Amino acid sequence: MRQNGNAHILVLGGDGFCGWPTALFLSREGYTVTIVDNFSRRRIDEELGVESLTPIESIGQRLQCWWETTGLNIRLHRLDLACDYEPLMELIAETQPAAIVHFAEQRAAPYSMKSSRHKRYTVSNNINATNNLLAAVVDAGVDCHIVHLGTMGVYGYGSAGMKIPEGYLDVEIPMADGQRVSQQILYPTNPGSIYHLTKSQDQLLFAYYNKNDGVRITDLHQGIVWGTQTVETSLDERLINRFDYDGDYGTVLNRFLMQAATGHELTVHGTGGQTRAFIHISDTVRCIQLAINSPPVAGERVRIMNQMTETHRVRDLAKMIADVSGAKVAFVDNPRNEAAENDLFVENASLCNLGLKPTFLAQGLLEEISEVAGKYAYRCNADLIPCRSYWRTHKVQESTPDV
Ligand code: NAD
Repeated sequence: MRQNGNAHILVLGGDGFCGWPTALFLSREGYTVTIVDNFSRRRIDEELGVESLTPIESIGQRLQCWWETTGLNIRLHRLDLACDYEPLMELIAETQPAAIVHFAEQRAAPYSMKSSRHKRYTVSNNINATNNLLAAVVDAGVDCHIVHLGTMGVYGYGSAGMKIPEGYLDVEIPMADGQRVSQQILYPTNPGSIYHLTKSQDQLLFAYYNKNDGVRITDLHQGIVWGTQTVETSLDERLINRFDYDGDYGTVLNRFLMQAATGHELTVHGTGGQTRAFIHISDTVRCIQLAINSPPVAGERVRIMNQMTETHRVRDLAKMIADVSGAKVAFVDNPRNEAAENDLFVENASLCNLGLKPTFLAQGLLEEISEVAGKYAYRCNADLIPCRSYWRTHKVQESTPDV
């Protein structure tokens, strides 16, 4: 095990799909880890009448098992980042973390589009959580590095033939005196759901606190995370990671995996010509560590890295799973308001240069079908698989990737 001088890391949203394996990985790598979560994700499961396909334990059981299995202790703070400002500020002041990893937002585009209540909740939760975190770091006077999980989905419509750069775009701007000046601006977002709108707004909050208060921030623009288990979550079944397959939180890949495992046709929305970016959960946790180990220096602007390893069209993804599983593919109406076909080219050199060795879909799909979707298929409620949030009644524009 590598020692990291017991540097303290706060993992906000550490009970979630990405946060839990990240907390375990960092703990095993020798960091002192504190999870902060308000368990809203578990409450949303109850609201929607769904549960993870994999049987996830309570947070108490999870942490007890981690202690029994590895002898490592992960601390827990139950806090609502959007509301509990003072306790958050005190926690940061008390623990003096080297880094704070921020996963704690409502992350499903379909959920954010269900009703005005869901839109308002997503805006209020996500934007207040991010703003409170930034204000608390400034208030506590702690020079820590914030690593935030953003999404490739903020760019919405695909790349129209261009390669999406890592956060910034070179532009030439005409001046009043007729001269032209070169400048770098944030690559423009085009959010296609309220969820993506909050992630676009996060970028402005980061730019502001970085400029005004010198907060050091890395924003990781992540693709759709696939895969369930990491080395650490596989150590004991009580540590298993969540697998969402319902129409709101399940990503397109998990829907196909469940349909294949339960003998249903793989339902491709529209022509299946939408291109999505992907990354395996093991690569997500590794990228977080790479980002933590390479913090921006004082005065550096917000560092933005694209955290994805491959892109696929949805119909090609369906074919890949059909070829492995023998399932049939069916084309159905698309509930989302998005372009039927889009390209997506993404620059992702930064994390690869830092040492990321990607796990590709072709290597891991079979294991995901047999070890997860197939093994726990008896827990699946097939009625929950279709998406029941409809974009078109609200007439929002353009494409909306899954997460
Ligand atoms: P998740 O819903 O499984 O986990 C989020 C966690 O944050 C949950 O445990 C939830 O209870 C907690 N949380 C939410 N609001 C909170 C609040 N106000 N206070 C305290 N805790 C709160 O989501 P995930 O899939 O792990 O995603 C984590 C982050 O990564 C999100 O910000 C998401 O936008 C981003 N991301 C995820 C994916 C993906 O494929 N899962 C892709 C791109 C980006």
